[in-house]
Amino acid sequence: MVEDTIAAIATALGESSIAVVRVSGEQAVDTVAKVFKSKQDLRQASTHTVHYGWIIDPESGAVLDEVLVTVMKAPRSFTAEDVVEISTHGGIVAVKSVLEVVLRHGARMAEPGEFTKRAFLNGRIDLAQAEAVIDLIRSKSDRAFQVARRQSEGALSKQIIPMRQQLIELLAHVEVNIDYPEHDVADVTAGVIRENCGAVLNQVKELLKRADEGKILREGIVTVIVGRPNAGKSSLLNALARENKAIVTDIPGTTRDIVEESISLSGIPLRLLDTAGIRETSDTVERIGVERSHGALNEADLILLVLNNNEPLHEDERKLLNQLKDRSTIVVVNKIDLPRQLDITEVQKDYPPDRIVYLSAKEGKGIEELENAVSSMFLSGDVESGDLTYVSNARHIALLHQAKASLEDAITASSAQIPIDLIQIDIAATWDTLGGILGDAAGDSLLDQIFSQFCLGK
Ligand code: GDP
Ligand code: ZN
Repeated sequence: MVEDTIAAIATALGESSIAVVRVSGEQAVDTVAKVFKSKQDLRQASTHTVHYGWIIDPESGAVLDEVLVTVMKAPRSFTAEDVVEISTHGGIVAVKSVLEVVLRHGARMAEPGEFTKRAFLNGRIDLAQAEAVIDLIRSKSDRAFQVARRQSEGALSKQIIPMRQQLIELLAHVEVNIDYPEHDVADVTAGVIRENCGAVLNQVKELLKRADEGKILREGIVTVIVGRPNAGKSSLLNALARENKAIVTDIPGTTRDIVEESISLSGIPLRLLDTAGIRETSDTVERIGVERSHGALNEADLILLVLNNNEPLHEDERKLLNQLKDRSTIVVVNKIDLPRQLDITEVQKDYPPDRIVYLSAKEGKGIEELENAVSSMFLSGDVESGDLTYVSNARHIALLHQAKASLEDAITASSAQIPIDLIQIDIAATWDTLGGILGDAAGDSLLDQIFSQFCLGK
């Protein structure tokens, strides 16, 4: 158990109808009782009860706010310590003055993530769950939120634990054969190693395969909007974002910088990048923008290639169509409110109908069709109904890659007559690595790094 008592504002700062000051630790109830005025003495309160009253400044006697105080006694609380939550009126002033008076009466200011860190240290959650809390706070869309929530409930841990169990049993089996070599079962053992390591390896690979999808859900699909100057890229970005972040102008080539916008499109997070028009250019400033947009194209998960319905296909566009046809590209034929000059049949040669969308960014027409095309491209149904266990965390992914490598080493070695006690090292290493996802034997610096990513009050 951690000895001192910590406090922080647990809700987002800014306009809201209520705000919460969270206090955790052995002195939590005592500390709040010193500054809380109500009919009942908080020290007598039983666990999981709510109390109405006022927070006062005992020194001046001033009433700071009318509040509800919730008492949750150890171990049935978020941190597994005594926790008191004070719900104050919203707005910065009330909640800050309440926090201040709590800090003056026995609590210290919590570091970012310290509540979750205590939950971990007190054994209430494992490390994968703690990290999921970070993702939960940060997740930008409903779907990413669901994934993070599933993980915080331990979905990933539930998959890792039996994998480690299988490895431990294998190690035990190998151990027996090292201790009793006269049984001469080395060949049998090699087969058992291949079988068991192979089974765990398949699960690791499956988790890694879905990691990409997890990354997309958490960070957003990197969506690059390309096209010639004046095709309507910035207008499209604005229509999608429904706010004017990119500058729209009539002079060709004025959007020189990449403008970024995060949006949620029927639950799918997109990171939209508006690029400078792609075309051969001699103007230096514009060329920088153009080069940057080529770079952005390489990184893109999704490409929106904007063509102008009102102009014949340009040579640059022909090149782009060809260059991007094997990528996740949707052709956006923009300006359908203007007469058609574009030869659509040329586009149709390389792109099936569900990858061509007709719209008017200016009039906001056809945006829904684009949204449908994007969602059917990325979420062919199986995400919503399927298993939402995605590995969405860079540290987990790195550890899974490491586990994959040591499992492959063990399998190769077992086929190559390598002494079994050497193979055993690989298996033990895999067990360790997978344990890192759960936070077994996590060193202090790793913990600090993880928990410092939290915002205050979590
Ligand atoms: P960008 O250079 O590709 O980013 O193009 P912009 O978004 O800056 O648009 C260039 C011009 O085309 C602006 O004058 C827009 O108002 C106009 N524009 C964009 N979309 C449409 C559209 O759907 N219909 C019409 N009529 N004009 C559009
Ligand atoms: Zn633009």
